[in-house]
Amino acid sequence: MSKQTFVIVGASLAGAKAAEELRERGFDGRVILIGAESERPYERPPLTKDYLRGESEREKAYVHEQGFYEQNQIELETDATVTAIDPAGPRVTLADGREFHYDRLLIATGAEPRRIPIPGADLDGVHYLRTLEDCDALRERLGAGGRVVVVGAGWIGSEFAASARQRGLEVTMVDPVALPNERVFGPEIGVFYRDVHAQHGIELVLGDGVEAFEGESSVARVLTSAGKTLECDFVVVGIGVVPRVELASGAGLEVDNGILVDEKLETSAPGVFAAGDVARAWHPFYGERIRVEHWSGALNQGPVAARAMLGQDVSYDRVPYFFSDQYDVGMEYSGHAPSWEEVVLRGDPAVGEFIAFWLRDGHVIAGMNVNVWDVNEHVQALIRSRQMIDAAALSDRDTPLESLLAAV
Ligand SMILES: Cc1cc2nc3c(=O)[nH]c(=O)nc-3n(C[C@H](O)[C@H](O)[C@H](O)COP(=O)(O)OP(=O)(O)OC[C@H]3O[C@@H](n4cnc5c(N)ncnc54)[C@H](O)[C@@H]3O)c2cc1C
Repeated sequence: MSKQTFVIVGASLAGAKAAEELRERGFDGRVILIGAESERPYERPPLTKDYLRGESEREKAYVHEQGFYEQNQIELETDATVTAIDPAGPRVTLADGREFHYDRLLIATGAEPRRIPIPGADLDGVHYLRTLEDCDALRERLGAGGRVVVVGAGWIGSEFAASARQRGLEVTMVDPVALPNERVFGPEIGVFYRDVHAQHGIELVLGDGVEAFEGESSVARVLTSAGKTLECDFVVVGIGVVPRVELASGAGLEVDNGILVDEKLETSAPGVFAAGDVARAWHPFYGERIRVEHWSGALNQGPVAARAMLGQDVSYDRVPYFFSDQYDVGMEYSGHAPSWEEVVLRGDPAVGEFIAFWLRDGHVIAGMNVNVWDVNEHVQALIRSRQMIDAAALSDRDTPLESLLAAV
């Protein structure tokens, strides 16, 4: 019997980790990893942090060392865009006309920045931040100093603003929300992040939207809905991402805010899988479909999809997790909390070290440790336990989290 061919579309974290897993599990057929970017797979978190600020080498951002793909007979096709998937073929077609037959396919096409549809959006100096190429352009901008307006106080906006400030730029951050990341955190923690930015000298324009960018050929000012004019040398827009589902919908796969997959990460087309930012996966623990736009989803779903492609009995049920670093504030967040009833704090946000827990029906459904380390495992165990929890004990720093767990 001839050897099988597994094709992976999207050569970033999810795709690269899937390819690695296929070889680790002994798959000896062809592995073709196709990516639209010219770089070999890299991680994006450094692009708002150390790499952006010029504090780490480019080499550190890559998922694997230079020779990895060749050594593992992974056919890495860079600068190669897949334009169509034909599950009946089954095959994929590339922009350059090439076609690859596949026995199993993984779609790991990720997400792309949501564009801002306002006058002046096409002016030079209006930046987005997703790729190394975007980051290199912004790194240069940071080197030149000046004044930047950041549109959006979510993760990308907040982390970029912090790095720009650390590089000494004048930074204004604008968002219609009242507090940074308020939808994820609620007001208690939103206030904490607002104050962190303010203490570091960011001008915050909250509760106000952006109406237009103005300038001759390059952006020079931002007009807000409330009538403010914010002078700037450049703009960074971070208003969320949209999953890249076009290939999947073109192939007739079920799509709804992401490619719909089951707990094995298999799409509605047998033999076709999806992982990472693009996948909205059935989560057995939550009993609903969830799309996670964070590093750990790509890191961990890629290998699970690979095992599913090999026919193994797998189920992706990790508690969602993400991390963020802004100035000297490092945090980890675990859980899934679209709504909650109570936020319990352990420690004092005023001193910058605390854990926040989001509770619903008396259970911990999410937790975030800020500048407190080695607790994430316990936070996740509390979430998984789904046990009634004593809020007073939860907030008491002298009661170890693991003892709470033992008590439930
Ligand atoms: C600047 C930045 C900082 C971040 N920081 C953090 C952080 O601190 N913590 C955290 O938890 N998460 C962070 N994230 C999120 C994290 O990086 C993403 O969740 C992760 O990159 C998703 O990986 P992915 O492989 O699913 O998709 P992506 O990384 O989006 O990669 C998809 C790849 O597919 C390629 N592709 C798309 N369509 C095609 C096609 N038709 N043909 C060929 N190739 C195609 C794209 O070019 C891209 O390279 C950050 C993201 C960014 C942008």
